[in-house]
Amino acid sequence: MPSFRVGSIAGIPIKLGLSFLLVLPLFAWFIGNGIGQLLPLLNGIFDANLPAAELSAGNTPYVLGIVAAVGLYVGVVLHELGHSFVAMRYGYEIDSITLWFLGGIAQMAEMPEDWRQELAVAVAGPAVSVVLGLLSFVVFLVVPESLGGVRFVLAYLALLNVGLAAFNLLPGFPMDGGRVLRALLARTRTHAEATQLAAEVGKGFAFLLALVGLFSGSIVFIAIAFFIYMSASGEAQQAVTKAALEGVAISRVMTPADEIDALSPKASVADLIERMLTERHTGYPVLESGELVGMVTLTDAQKVREVERDAFRVEEVMTHELETIPEDADAMTALSTMQSAGVGRLPVVGLQGEFVGLVSRTDLMTALTILRSSGRDSGAETSRDSPRSPEESL
Ligand SMILES: [Zn+2]
Repeated sequence: MPSFRVGSIAGIPIKLGLSFLLVLPLFAWFIGNGIGQLLPLLNGIFDANLPAAELSAGNTPYVLGIVAAVGLYVGVVLHELGHSFVAMRYGYEIDSITLWFLGGIAQMAEMPEDWRQELAVAVAGPAVSVVLGLLSFVVFLVVPESLGGVRFVLAYLALLNVGLAAFNLLPGFPMDGGRVLRALLARTRTHAEATQLAAEVGKGFAFLLALVGLFSGSIVFIAIAFFIYMSASGEAQQAVTKAALEGVAISRVMTPADEIDALSPKASVADLIERMLTERHTGYPVLESGELVGMVTLTDAQKVREVERDAFRVEEVMTHELETIPEDADAMTALSTMQSAGVGRLPVVGLQGEFVGLVSRTDLMTALTILRSSGRDSGAETSRDSPRSPEESL
């Protein structure tokens, strides 16, 4: 999703996603249009005595809508900065804070697995939102009643920031509440077990939310329920995968170089496709006098038109810039590297960069299935220093 950098706070780039830019005017319109219902609500909660006639006249609702919407998103950025500052205090790096239509995401290269740290980072965001809500309320109390518009925005932000904190504390991933729950569960369990349990709670909660949505006819509830359910499944899957693959040597799951029929860069694309058909592989390392010079996949071969496949050589279609993995890395690192590079297989290289084998996603998934059925994932030690879920949202 495209995003635009608009500045940085404390060295953290702040970006606006395209979906945010599209939804902000819509949101402002939504507030402006709903001012007829918002005014009695705010007057009821805060005993605000906001002048309905004055604030509903002409373009005033839409001006207030824009100011309130921008104010709310400023609150979201501060919420994310709350998470970010605490994470940075523990030495974690924040890549960026991006605003998109559902709120904000503080992107971190890795996240704390120590339960105290995760708890502190997760709680920091909602804590900031509560403080913002209270601050808005205090300022609302001191602003003179003649400034009806200002008081409307302040009352609105007081309500919404507290609402944002409450929404974020819902007990399901990717909400902060899901992380709080995992941190508390991880006090007496491994990170993977805590994640699985927290994910189960999240799924149960999503199910309840969906029921409420069905009975009340609220499409928003159903959408949020679906979102929580999918995130919980993803998070649990990732934790299980990580617990099983971490610490497993690549050499145990890779296909060693001497068992691989490598291709010569001079082979024709027609030969390549013929080999793919007979050997049922969709990717090959390309070796020239024992040295790895590239990788070629079915997608590369398909770029050449059928009539030209005899004329084209493998070296003309293969990838030269290779993502490789050192043989002393573990299987989880291989999986993360494949995911971030968007490739299905990685050449494994030795200390001098020599080609020692090939590891594919299928190899990793097969290893995962075997390791899981042998029960390795329960009680596996977790360590903090490998990449995990790269995102933490809202
Ligand atoms: Zn948050």
